[in-house]
Amino acid sequence: MKVGILGGGQLALMMVDSFIDKNVEFIVLDPSDKPPASKRVKCIKAKYDDKEYLDFLAKECDVVTIDFENVPSSSLNYLEMQTKVYPNSKSVEICQDRLKEKNLFRECGVPVTDFYEINDINDLKNAVSEITNKSILKSRFMGYDGKNQVHLNDKKIEEAFTLCGSKDLILEKKVDFITELSLIGARTLDGDTVYYPLVENNHNNGILDYSIAPYENEELQKKAEEYHRVLCDKMNYVGILVIEFFLINNQELIANEMAPRVHNSGHWTIEGANISQFEAHIRCIINEQISDIEMNKYSGMVNIISKMPKDRAECLSDISGFHDYGKLERENRKLGHITLIDTNKNNLLKKIENIKKII
Ligand code: ADP
Ligand code: MG
Repeated sequence: MKVGILGGGQLALMMVDSFIDKNVEFIVLDPSDKPPASKRVKCIKAKYDDKEYLDFLAKECDVVTIDFENVPSSSLNYLEMQTKVYPNSKSVEICQDRLKEKNLFRECGVPVTDFYEINDINDLKNAVSEITNKSILKSRFMGYDGKNQVHLNDKKIEEAFTLCGSKDLILEKKVDFITELSLIGARTLDGDTVYYPLVENNHNNGILDYSIAPYENEELQKKAEEYHRVLCDKMNYVGILVIEFFLINNQELIANEMAPRVHNSGHWTIEGANISQFEAHIRCIINEQISDIEMNKYSGMVNIISKMPKDRAECLSDISGFHDYGKLERENRKLGHITLIDTNKNNLLKKIENIKKII
């Protein structure tokens, strides 16, 4: 079995690692030099729309998947005509566009915050006058780690419009949330889905700082799984799909966005669950069954951002996993993560606090 991956970042690296020594070969395509996955597998350096290499991938691979959701959906569509592609190009196209994504949420009865399509400055002025609360202007495309979004209360309307790129925008009402939760679900080719328990996510400046699992609430878990099921059915989805939610009033979930791939809020599953999200994704796309998820209570994941810790040894006591993606240090770049596990939630919180002081 050969699996092609578009994108050779840390997600591809961890997908490859999850299947090492198993009967799967990986071929990765990435436009950059020495992406993280090149530590384990040969990476072809090519643009995502280079037809020569897409043809090669299609010919060589039984199935192709992604590590990066912003690969052109036209490339996935091109591959689809020659081999299997999971998730399918249409799902990825929806998840790439905040407007399409939010329209789909609405269509599927998944609650979302008020939002407005913004194509020019007048649209923005009109929308701002309708949203009485605080709002966030976001680019519809290419947003990640809080990039390409501006909080409107901090800026003048014209300035925010320019900062966001002046086209293809969406204005969202700011949600006054209690916390942020994500649901990771792995859907097989037969349409069966295995869910991980809800994860609680803490962001700093729009970037995921740390996650804790499980967020124990049966009602919310049921609700989130139902939303996930409806969206997957609608998109005919295969693989891991992650939905990010805001929790309001302690009982209501508002969907923020979804990721058509493995997700940073699921990195704890490498050490914290019987099947990691990476293995689950690959199993789905190569048509293998997945048993129910069992997990350690409790798991935490802390991102290493901007700088790697100087003294790694200092981090190593008390932790269950230290992952270095081998990337160059850069402001606000995710360079690695640390997993922590404890049977007691308060102890886990203390461990997270301690590790955050060190890194
Ligand atoms: P990205 O693709 O960069 O992750 P998100 O839409 O998830 O973009 O925004 C990043 C973070 O910014 C969210 O996790 C949340 O903390 C905050 N945020 C985004 N949209 C809203 C909103 N409508 N209301 C409140 N907070 C928001
Ligand atoms: Mg997000």
